[in-house]
Amino acid sequence: MSRRARALPVLMYHHVSTSPSMITVAPQHFAAQMAYLASAGYRTIGAAQLAAFMRGEDVPEKSLVITFDDGYLDNWVHAHPVLQRHGFTALCFLVSSWPGAGDVRPHAANATPDALPPLLDHHAGERAIEAGRTDDVALRWSEIDAMRAAGTFEFHSHTHTHVRWDQVMTSREQKRACLKDDLSASRETLAQRLGEVSDHLCWPQGYYDDDYREVARDAGFRHFYTCHVGTNARASLKAQANERSINRLEVRDRPASWLASRLWVHSRPTLSRAYLRHQALREKCGNGIVHRIGCIAMR
Ligand SMILES: [Zn+2]
Repeated sequence: MSRRARALPVLMYHHVSTSPSMITVAPQHFAAQMAYLASAGYRTIGAAQLAAFMRGEDVPEKSLVITFDDGYLDNWVHAHPVLQRHGFTALCFLVSSWPGAGDVRPHAANATPDALPPLLDHHAGERAIEAGRTDDVALRWSEIDAMRAAGTFEFHSHTHTHVRWDQVMTSREQKRACLKDDLSASRETLAQRLGEVSDHLCWPQGYYDDDYREVARDAGFRHFYTCHVGTNARASLKAQANERSINRLEVRDRPASWLASRLWVHSRPTLSRAYLRHQALREKCGNGIVHRIGCIAMR
């Protein structure tokens, strides 16, 4: 029997694209990172197994979770074919008002590069969404169906609108009411389009407060994906609660060796904590600040 994992690393991606930005991984780096995971014997698990691990159940050593935030078109074009090649599954947190209608578009494994849909960089994509051209940036429902059928992606909630209600509402009551409506619309949309909706929610821009957690719990969510850097240890008995916050590791546009070293550290809970304390000290000295800004700036 294989050994059980002491910690569960959860990787965070946004874009896999030929149009660079601070939160984009180039297709060749993504392909190399996934090839490394496969060759090193890593296996991906889905949301249900992550929930079981957080409840205290065993998962085999070298298990990990791959996540993508927002639901971008490039996830279909460049990530889906690579995940399919390796038999990997990722979680995609969908902004559920973004996907549109239409046929599936070509992806990197079934079309030549010049036949692929144009991919906007992150900031051009934000402007396109603001201008109502969401289809230029986001997945279509047909592509989501194809990814689910292939087993490359599960889809979970990232709210319906991605609006930071804490920033746009002046009163606490308004903030809570808007978030409640946002989460309710997201659950309704996912239930209607996918036939199911889970209790896993990814906070837009990683933001949450006590109101956010309470409103989300009332809406039926229990597993909250954050931008807190770190790994995930199995819940201790005294830490049992009716919700779980999940730490993640933001994957950079770097070669597979970079990912290998991060996973080596963050598969070991004690080493992971020591590493993060060291990083925190470096941040105080001004190094590493880019990461924190990146997490705040990202969708
Ligand atoms: Zn987001």
